[in-house]
Amino acid sequence: MQKIIVAVFVFFSFNFISTAQTDTGEAYNIKLSKVSRNVYMLQGKGGNMGLSLGHDGVFMIDDQFEEGIPDILKKIRKLNKKPIKYIVNTHYHPDHIGGNVLMANEGATIFSHENARKRIEDLRKNSSEKLETKILPIITITEDLTFYFNGEKIMVFHVHNAHTDGDVMVYFTNSNVIHTGDAFVNRLYPFIDHESGGSLEGYYKALEKILMVGDEHTKIIPGHGELATIQDVKNSLDMITVIWKRVSHYYTNKKTIEEVLALNDFTQNFDEKGYGNGFITTEKFIRSIYKDIEIENGPIDNRTMEERLNDKVKEQKKAKKKG
Ligand SMILES: [Zn+2]
Repeated sequence: MQKIIVAVFVFFSFNFISTAQTDTGEAYNIKLSKVSRNVYMLQGKGGNMGLSLGHDGVFMIDDQFEEGIPDILKKIRKLNKKPIKYIVNTHYHPDHIGGNVLMANEGATIFSHENARKRIEDLRKNSSEKLETKILPIITITEDLTFYFNGEKIMVFHVHNAHTDGDVMVYFTNSNVIHTGDAFVNRLYPFIDHESGGSLEGYYKALEKILMVGDEHTKIIPGHGELATIQDVKNSLDMITVIWKRVSHYYTNKKTIEEVLALNDFTQNFDEKGYGNGFITTEKFIRSIYKDIEIENGPIDNRTMEERLNDKVKEQKKAKKKG
């Protein structure tokens, strides 16, 4: 468990100082894609950002890392010079909130789920770098919230215990675009952050929620990966179902996690499509599914029938003494 926490922290570490220059002169390549008339997707380092640009100003979803913000702002300013009004953090991971301080300095009001704010506060307190309080969202959401901005209704809604315990998705109703945060990643194995209240069941339900909200024309900005469609979300649900069923089957047959990993032919289909090429490798994903099943069912019971009966008699005797 400790190992996972360390790995996650290293991966998401703020890394405010180091700046890898690229041939475009930007801190790293930032790709801005038009998704609808006024909604854009911005990809760089870290989680995908969503942008609504219009006469009311700039509405943003997530802000990656601080080091990328100057270039991100330049890209935005080429298209819209109005104020950066609102930022919604989809969850607390540093690759989605790293630009909060600079964006607050730009005058943006930052929103997140209540649990995400608590976790950002913990990150801030435990970080070796001094992080300003401006990194904290100043308005929190517990279930849902609606913005009327740039000529459309923008709905923000919480999905429970999915990627973490503080995830929100954002639906641009006229544009028919959903930003899912990391509660959906396109053609990649998802990261279910059990240490932060995530669960496979919640993750699955979050994907189903996207299907409920969207239709075949909906464009989906995933937390990571390329712009997606409803079909991609369905594929992700299928992938999780297939792998979960197999791991469950092995678990019921008392296979240890190491034995399950040795039998990993059942992921081949998805591995070939590149699902394991992101942050979550095939092994990490199988381990997380196994862990989820273990949390639900308790550790494997390896006792023989005789041992179990003996233990039961002992328990009954203990109970009698107490009674
Ligand atoms: Zn995340």
